Amino acid sequence: MSFVKGLKCRECGRTYPIEAIYVCEFCFASLEVDYDYDALKKAVTRSQIESGPKSIWRYRALLPIDGEPTVGLHSGFTPFVRADRLAKTLGVRELYVKDDSVCHPTWSFKDRVVAVALSKAKELGFDTVACASTGNLANSVAAHGARSGLKRYIFIPSDLERAKILGTLVYAPILIMVRGTYDEVNRLCGEIAARHRWAFVNVNIRPYYAEGSKTVGFEIAEQLGWRTPGHVVCCAASGSLLTKIWKGFKEFEKLGLIEKTKTKIHCAQPQGCSPISEMILSGSDVLKPVKPKTIAKSLAIGNPADGYYARDAVKESGGTAEIASDDEIREGIQLLARTEGIFTETAGGVTVAVAKKLIEQGKISKNESIVLAITGNGLKTQDAIESSLAAPLVIDPHLSSFEDKVLTAT
Ligand SMILES: *Cc1c(COP(=O)(O)O)cnc(C)c1O
Repeated sequence: MSFVKGLKCRECGRTYPIEAIYVCEFCFASLEVDYDYDALKKAVTRSQIESGPKSIWRYRALLPIDGEPTVGLHSGFTPFVRADRLAKTLGVRELYVKDDSVCHPTWSFKDRVVAVALSKAKELGFDTVACASTGNLANSVAAHGARSGLKRYIFIPSDLERAKILGTLVYAPILIMVRGTYDEVNRLCGEIAARHRWAFVNVNIRPYYAEGSKTVGFEIAEQLGWRTPGHVVCCAASGSLLTKIWKGFKEFEKLGLIEKTKTKIHCAQPQGCSPISEMILSGSDVLKPVKPKTIAKSLAIGNPADGYYARDAVKESGGTAEIASDDEIREGIQLLARTEGIFTETAGGVTVAVAKKLIEQGKISKNESIVLAITGNGLKTQDAIESSLAAPLVIDPHLSSFEDKVLTAT
């Protein structure tokens, strides 16, 4: 049973049937899935969700597939960690990490969106999937597509981290490296999607794909005991995840599963690619696209598709934005690792660094609950921090060498 009514234009509200389409023919804005919230309100309860599988599919009523999911059965329901040691370092009372760097088949939150996108692509009858990716999406589409027997075309910019290239190739998709930025790769994919009947997860399947990100918001609220925190800090590339965490909170509120949310959601971006944060900080109504230059390659989208919607979510919630330099990103990664034992990638470093800044600036109150959305795993971006780590101690296999070199140095 599905509660989906159809697709709806995010600007003019015109409605469309459930197909592999993504832009409104009249105003060219993007399309979004529309649900029957009255029916949902009668059908969805806390206990019904709690008795569901420990994955994103416990929220299936609020996801846009018709039948049973066929892909990504283990995506989601990642750890929600109380981070007291990091809290102490930052001088705050109640801090949590929503840890999407672990428990996922390809170690990032993209396994949520891909689970929904590929389940939908199969329902729509596609035998070929494709994507434009900054790295993690490539890993996830390659892996989940392999398991579901789909032909896969994966497009990436040619300057990605080794681990993200290798972590795609191992699943044997057709990997195409494009000499250009992600924004150029994405534009090319739009052109290809117009000519070939392939399910491009972040182009013509994007309305369904993006809904998968709501589950981060759902899980935060459920794991916090059916309430939402004072603050969420979330990193942004296209701005979709941030927008959908907010949408997730609002949907839970609409269904009476939580009280009216008072969460302030804050946008974290890296210096060298911060068009959404810049727009929020300057109060401008126009997003200025940039040519990305940052070590946070998973966030290197210079012309973000959901930039305005992310800005709107931040504004509506009363949140703000900040920007982290490459050095601050490295420090953020190491701070989370040494206080909480969580090794995140550069995107997570951006989130930690921005949270630290907003706390220091007093924009996040020290007495309110704070959740950091940690989205990917650090083993994929080792290149970024290698040079800033302390070297190991090297000794000979003798007690004297140990006593000499280790005991005197520590
Ligand atoms: C893709 C990605 C993001 C940002 O996602 P958007 O929805 O495009 O803003 C954040 N973190 C990681 C690790 C990612 O791979």
